[in-house]
Amino acid sequence: MTALSTRASSKPPRPLGVALVGLGNYAKSELRPALEIAERCRLAGVVTGSKRKGQGWAHHFGFSPDSIYHYDEMERMADDPNIDIVYVVTPNAFHAEHSIRAAKAGKHVICEKPFTISVAEADAVIAACAAAGVKLSLGYRLHFDPHHIVLRNATTADEWGIPTTAEGALSFCLQGRPWRAQRELAGGGPLMDVGIYVVQAACMMRGEEAPVAVTARELPKTRPDDFRDVEEAIEWIMEFSDGFVCEASASYSESANYLNVQCADGWARLGPAFSYRGIKMETHQGPMRFEPVNQQARQMDDFARCISEDRESIVNGAMGRRDMVIIEAIYRAAQTGRREPVII
Ligand code: NAD
Repeated sequence: MTALSTRASSKPPRPLGVALVGLGNYAKSELRPALEIAERCRLAGVVTGSKRKGQGWAHHFGFSPDSIYHYDEMERMADDPNIDIVYVVTPNAFHAEHSIRAAKAGKHVICEKPFTISVAEADAVIAACAAAGVKLSLGYRLHFDPHHIVLRNATTADEWGIPTTAEGALSFCLQGRPWRAQRELAGGGPLMDVGIYVVQAACMMRGEEAPVAVTARELPKTRPDDFRDVEEAIEWIMEFSDGFVCEASASYSESANYLNVQCADGWARLGPAFSYRGIKMETHQGPMRFEPVNQQARQMDDFARCISEDRESIVNGAMGRRDMVIIEAIYRAAQTGRREPVII
């Protein structure tokens, strides 16, 4: 459908059917309530290892039990006209496989962060979506949060003078050794899981440009057994072409959630900065307050709009790939101890 035909019709478009792949914490706690209030999307199916769990969702959302799929039978979704979008919410190491299988079934794809666990995988997903003629978007919810939108608009337009420095952190205490602490399933540690938000925020402030170089340092492990094959905590610095520098950190053994930005003629401080709700923002002009929004409902509705108007999502495969390039460079810098270039 073209933008013209959407505008010409007075009838609101049919909400697009979304199938969630993976019914874990994020799907249950955030995407489920978002799908209850989304205007352009509705839950139309699930992919799960537990048929019984799927039945609870089918009952709640009123979709047919025929649209409950096991991970092994995602291909069967090709024959399900109720499903337009497949939303991948499984552990990071499965993002590429599940996204590619969704694309091959002819479905548009939303893939959770991190997009994949390597640049090579990102390329494979982008290629699969292009080959299938489907659109690709990411679970980059911050792009739909009013605080981050205002920050992006002010900093990219140099409204507060040229941004000079920023510092940001996202960290939480991870107990035990769940999949997030296992390289095989997570692809990396807190950088891959939550540090990616600071990477996104920094790029957002520079018009989605990537840094030109990074330096990084992995911190000594306090629980070497739990974090035997991923970092427990990491600090890194992103240098941008115009001189803007962002210092960042991510850890699985402390709590932190902030973003401070200094510009030539002003500043902004966000804390908490990256949460689903309750973000607080102060600037040199005073506090910035917004009506609460559901980031995930906005994110999914925006993608539905992109599909019906045949345009690219602002949070697309190229952006996810960019972040994988940056993350790989940060890990390389932590290993070599050198300043590593970021080559997109
Ligand atoms: P979770 O462990 O709660 O859920 C993962 C789901 O995947 C479970 O339903 C599990 O059964 C299923 N799964 C399928 N195969 C599996 C396997 N081999 N091993 C383990 N689980 C398997 O995790 P989560 O917190 O819901 O995270 C899922 C994804 O969502 C991750 O990629 C994470 O980065 C992303 N996420 C995004 C946000 C955000 O704000 N955008 C927030 C939280 C999580």
